[in-house]
Amino acid sequence: MMNDVADVVVIGGGMQGLSTAYFLLKKGRNVTVIERGDIANGTTSRSDGDIFVCDSTPGYFTKLQKAALDEIVALTHEIDDFDWMAKGCVILAENEEQVEIAKKQYQEKIADGIRCRFMDKHDVHEDEPNTAPDIPGGLEFPDGGSLNPMLFAYSLTRAIRQMGGKIRCFTTVTGIDVSPEGVLRGVRTDDGDILCSTAVIACGVWSREIGMMAGLDIPITPMKGDLLVLEPNVYITRRKTMDIGYSLLRHKKAGGADEKTFEEAHGIGFLIEPTNEKNALIGFSKYPADSTVSSLGVMQAMARRAIRFFPIIKDMNVIRAYAGVRPWTPDHEAIVSATDVQGLYVNAGHAGDGIKLGPISGKMMSQLICGEQTDFDLAPLRLDRFKEVRV
Ligand SMILES: Cc1cc2nc3c(=O)[nH]c(=O)nc-3n(C[C@H](O)[C@H](O)[C@H](O)COP(=O)(O)OP(=O)(O)OC[C@H]3O[C@@H](n4cnc5c(N)ncnc54)[C@H](O)[C@@H]3O)c2cc1C
Repeated sequence: MMNDVADVVVIGGGMQGLSTAYFLLKKGRNVTVIERGDIANGTTSRSDGDIFVCDSTPGYFTKLQKAALDEIVALTHEIDDFDWMAKGCVILAENEEQVEIAKKQYQEKIADGIRCRFMDKHDVHEDEPNTAPDIPGGLEFPDGGSLNPMLFAYSLTRAIRQMGGKIRCFTTVTGIDVSPEGVLRGVRTDDGDILCSTAVIACGVWSREIGMMAGLDIPITPMKGDLLVLEPNVYITRRKTMDIGYSLLRHKKAGGADEKTFEEAHGIGFLIEPTNEKNALIGFSKYPADSTVSSLGVMQAMARRAIRFFPIIKDMNVIRAYAGVRPWTPDHEAIVSATDVQGLYVNAGHAGDGIKLGPISGKMMSQLICGEQTDFDLAPLRLDRFKEVRV
């Protein structure tokens, strides 16, 4: 058993934990990351790597996403390569009703300073001839791109170690030591205790159980998502493309009583992400479930939806499938916050945006811990906003 002392303990070696550690180390803090598995053992290794500014609500959250994108671009110059591909993305409307939604979204994005182009039927097919002939329009976002989340996590890990940070993998946090006055004293693990005055809960969907160890209520629940991997060396489209339902579903918790069809109950939509490995990922689904086992019915529904937008996909083979659980909060936005326990912080609950928001959240968590002005007002991301909702 190893008893230890650290300035800051970060619990969780996924995108939030690694980003938090990276930015704290840049500020000269002494950091230990505790991860119960290997690096990116949780949802970070079960996602795709879309980094876009097209699917958030107008105002604060769109501006936060823009800052998140800038932070990732900055990291391409600071850490090892993580397959960053800056190709922008396209959103497709399926019918005239959705074309009207696209027009509205175009106005909102322009108002928030996001570069965006409305595409009519001709533009869509000129842009990508493989698109189904009846698709009537869409939006193009020239900024943003995609990355490989595993490479990203390992590049951050190397940078953390180079700066002197400690990462203890295969070590599980089993308790949080809080004084009777409500002040953090340390973190207990299955490999000894660590004395520390600051700790960050960055455990994604498992943050709720870590919070309970300190008497905190962190309302994060699992929201499953499935992905298909297509055979390599086939061309479908050159860049990330999704249907407009992606942004409509973003804030909708699938699985509600009003959802009649299988597709509605499982939040099925269309997304394709070509990768640097010359194959493509196909999504998406969104439904409350605590499982990382791919569901056959969901996979078939996603494939049908993909063929609707790119008929060429019907002749292609799926070589693999995987699923993960998004850390979901009641208002679908992240928690980047201090808590009622002095010295204990939360950086979790980033739902389907945790790769994109990882660096900006980690940076702001480091600013919060160091008593600095944060890049954004953190009020919309505070943990105690949920107390207000429940009263
Ligand atoms: C199918 C799918 C597609 C997605 N696509 C995208 C996308 O394109 N873009 C995007 O931005 N986001 C995407 N996401 C969301 C993104 O993956 C998550 O928001 C993000 O990975 C969450 O990171 P995290 O660090 O908060 O949690 P995690 O990656 O889950 O990390 C938490 C870590 O805590 C560890 N842990 C838990 N309990 C303990 C304990 N007791 N002791 C020590 N360690 C512990 C776990 O082992 C885990 O490694 C997607 C998610 C899914 C499921």
